[in-house]
Amino acid sequence: MAIEKISPGMQQYLDIKAKHPDAFLLFRMGDFYELFYEDAVEAAQILELTLTSRNKNAENPIPMAGVPYHAAQQYIDTLVELGHKVAIAEQVEDPKMAVGVVKREVVQIITPGTMTDSSKLGSESNFLVAMDRQGLRYALSYMDVATGQFYVTSLEDFSSLCGEIRNLRAREVVVGSPLSEEEETVLTRQMNLLLSFEEEVLDDVHLIDASLTELEKQTAGKLLSYLKRTQLRDLVHLQKVIHYEIKDYLQMDYATKASLDLLENGRTGKKHGSLYWLLDETKTAMGIRLLRSWIDRPLIDKERIEARQEVVAVFLNYFFERSDLVESLKGVYDIERLASRVSFGKTTPKDLLQLAQTLANVPAIKGILQQMEQPALSSLVANLDPIPELHALISSAIDPEAQATITEGNIIRSGFDATLDQYRLVMREGTGWIAEIETKERAASGITNLKIDYNKKDGYYFHVTNSNLGNVPTHFFRKATLKNSERYGTEELAKIEGQMLEARDKSSNLEYEIFMRIRQEVEKYISRLQKLARTIATVDVLQSFAALAEQERWIRPVFTQHRDLSIKDGRHAVVEKVMGRQTYIPNSIYLDNKTNMQLITGPNMSGKSTYMRQLAVIVILAQMGSYVPAEEAELPIFDAIFTRIGAADDLVSGQSTFMVEMMEANKAVRLATESSLILFDELGRGTATYDGMALAQSIIEYIHDKIGAKTLFATHYHELTELSQTLEHLENVHVSTLEKDGQVTFLHKIAPGPADKSYGIHVAKIAGMPDSLLARADSILQSLENQGQHYQAPRQPIQENGQLDLFASPHPVVEELGKLDLYNMTPMEAMQVLAELQKKLGSDSV
Ligand code: ATP
Repeated sequence: MAIEKISPGMQQYLDIKAKHPDAFLLFRMGDFYELFYEDAVEAAQILELTLTSRNKNAENPIPMAGVPYHAAQQYIDTLVELGHKVAIAEQVEDPKMAVGVVKREVVQIITPGTMTDSSKLGSESNFLVAMDRQGLRYALSYMDVATGQFYVTSLEDFSSLCGEIRNLRAREVVVGSPLSEEEETVLTRQMNLLLSFEEEVLDDVHLIDASLTELEKQTAGKLLSYLKRTQLRDLVHLQKVIHYEIKDYLQMDYATKASLDLLENGRTGKKHGSLYWLLDETKTAMGIRLLRSWIDRPLIDKERIEARQEVVAVFLNYFFERSDLVESLKGVYDIERLASRVSFGKTTPKDLLQLAQTLANVPAIKGILQQMEQPALSSLVANLDPIPELHALISSAIDPEAQATITEGNIIRSGFDATLDQYRLVMREGTGWIAEIETKERAASGITNLKIDYNKKDGYYFHVTNSNLGNVPTHFFRKATLKNSERYGTEELAKIEGQMLEARDKSSNLEYEIFMRIRQEVEKYISRLQKLARTIATVDVLQSFAALAEQERWIRPVFTQHRDLSIKDGRHAVVEKVMGRQTYIPNSIYLDNKTNMQLITGPNMSGKSTYMRQLAVIVILAQMGSYVPAEEAELPIFDAIFTRIGAADDLVSGQSTFMVEMMEANKAVRLATESSLILFDELGRGTATYDGMALAQSIIEYIHDKIGAKTLFATHYHELTELSQTLEHLENVHVSTLEKDGQVTFLHKIAPGPADKSYGIHVAKIAGMPDSLLARADSILQSLENQGQHYQAPRQPIQENGQLDLFASPHPVVEELGKLDLYNMTPMEAMQVLAELQKKLGSDSV
């Protein structure tokens, strides 16, 4: 095989690519970024680029694809959004000065977790997560690279780690120690994460506190090391790592958040229809991010919650001031991200102008809060630092008309730098001065056709025809001789010419230099800007709470020390918003300290899930510091919310609906405390009736006897309602129904006691099932009811081993029922089987 000669340029490419095998390498060549070999083939497909080749006539041409450098960002964003890494190799020397191949180096690696600039990201956070392990313990650290916010925590086990990664909606995880095959499968296949491995620990004492555990320090250090490896620069905007504990916040796992539609609508994955959608009355990008993080992590500390409530209360009292505040907030840019762009070396003049404009708004915001004269606002007021020096610097330096480019001049304001002003004066005035010299010398010399011309070789010169050579003044010096004329210069002309050329050349360089100096200066203010950003974000979210409270007529909840829970006429905020206030039926919920559980019965579609979610959403809103949709609300502070609501297969992790249901129930049963809230909707439905009912009952008993958490349990097993006779902390409620002249109306109103019947057939009718089928179902139901089969919920104290022998010797019909694979049967088949079983029962009484 002939060995093909590789050009030095391609050799350089191959050398760089060898160091970045896991990234698409964008190799800068003139005005293009080129991709070669496999990268080119793959990228051409993903990005719809034309695939060409580098040396077409060679035996093995090299596949090549390119993107113009000025449009590269959108291509990079697309690749990274799809979960790839992109390494950017730039020319790091001036091609004109280069001897041989221009030197190129990778200047940045953009990865899904470190991406900061994508248009697709919007204002939301993008977290890079790092994980590490020591023995059985795990640590997790995460950072929003765009804002430099940095956190670390310790976790008990792999599943909590996965839970936290899911919560953060991370897309890339930096892994510090080898993973087992199973762990890797979970992270990559099920959670669809990009894994990046990092062994080095960057020990930065300014960012990583000595008080952390060794494992936490190590994990945070690996995150920093990976960041340095990919960003290839020192980042001054990174903030000191904050240690947190999951248990310091109201705990909810990802499934709970999804089923409660907190940040997105669980069904559509969109913002619309989520709690975030409802709550978002924020006016700033920083407010949006903070609101999302508050929804994600409601508080458990009464004082902190009440401090937020206090501010909302003040804002509600000052209507006019609040509307001024909203106006001022509208002029606030994303200074948190602007600050980090300074650190990334990517600031544009426009960014700095936005920064200054924001700073200019701060005194107004501060003034409005001061006018309210309320102690609750004092720390916000104190932290609203308008950084006047920075505002003065930017507004005196940057031209208000400046654009985003920094190399083409017109960015620095006149009056800021004397030399630059001189250059500009020369550029502006130079031609006038030359005209003046021309007139002056013409008059002095008496040469009437004396004129000044310009060419590249001779520069500016006096053009004197041969007939006038006798009148040339003595201070003229000859520059060139032509056939019919001579070209002369003067000292004065040379000076102006020098100044003009210099001015043209140097002014844009000088502007660039001044801009860089200002950028460096701004860097010194980053931590003050970050603090200001946090304060503005807080003000923004709290004014948003006040706006909501006012618009939707929410009230301030009170927190009780005892375990009484009382909500008068509560509403599900999002459902109400979607259906309209007139249509939504409010429901009260009372669970005093002797009542821990409500068993909710009622027809399908009557509002059981809505009632349960309503409670969870009110608890979450309350613990975020917001007002809540109710007439009155008294709540204990919950430590966690566990839910099993709605059926969902988790096909990706290979788990059936019932398995997911049991796993979620298990989580609640094992982790809930007396201070938790548990919501179980139709638990046990995914298996045969008695099997499911048995599980449902034993779970109720377990929670009742051993945990004592406040629990709402919706069920279609009417038989379970008898448990209220034996379980002292359980009460029955039902969703009431109005039946008149054969017409059934669901009232969506919760009432005490159990439901008297279910209306499955009625719902099937609403769904449009054929009349003959419905008639048949009715007759089957009647004969079942006539046979008086009645399940008595037997009560037996739970054994320590948790075994409950409910059905010691089941009837053969029951056994057969238990084995039915209902999910793989058509309704007709199911009815036939039911009819057969019924026949059997007829001959063989129970
Ligand atoms: P299933 O047992 O089939 O799961 P469900 O009893 O849990 O049903 P929900 O899903 O809570 O019923 O509610 C069904 C529909 O009823 C809702 O989508 C909503 O349109 C309406 N609804 C529920 N609660 C109320 C309410 N309080 N006021 C007005 N309409 C309501």
